[in-house]
Amino acid sequence: SRPHPADLNMIVENSLALFAGRLGNIRVTRELSPRLPLVLADPEALKRALSNLIDNAAEAMQESLLRELHITTRLLDSGLVELVIADTGPGLTDEMRERLFLPYFSTKQRGTGLGLSIAAKIVQEHQGTIRAEKNVPAGARFIIELRPPAFRD
Ligand code: ADP
Ligand code: MG
Repeated sequence: SRPHPADLNMIVENSLALFAGRLGNIRVTRELSPRLPLVLADPEALKRALSNLIDNAAEAMQESLLRELHITTRLLDSGLVELVIADTGPGLTDEMRERLFLPYFSTKQRGTGLGLSIAAKIVQEHQGTIRAEKNVPAGARFIIELRPPAFRD
């Protein structure tokens, strides 16, 4: 369906719920702004995008001593709504960061390399942006910015 005003925090919770039981050894922490404006979203599509990111984070942390998935939502000064999915896995090299969102880029034995390209396509269909950064002190973080219904650029 076309994007309509939706509660991003709810979409985050519903995305995490898809992983029930499968995030067993990972500590999941949330910092979801209670005053978040609604965003223009197709909740089912956005859930698919988020679950691809959560999936990658969980896989990235399989060999890590510290396994923490941290999800944040907040309203930016720009008026956009930001969603951050951060992990404590091995993180990303600059070379990887350049190719991450391309279809078929994978460093995994049985990776399709499609998860992030699909996530990026979905975010773009929302007129949003997605980018990857190094997390502090370790790991990767994926940052999505979405528009509230009345946003003007
Ligand atoms: P796949 O998971 O099938 O490999 P994706 O498009 O989901 O394909 O991810 C592409 C590649 O990006 C992965 O193979 C991995 O190298 C890298 N990547 C994605 N997310 C993370 C992450 N959270 N931490 C480290 N590397 C990541
Ligand atoms: Mg993947």
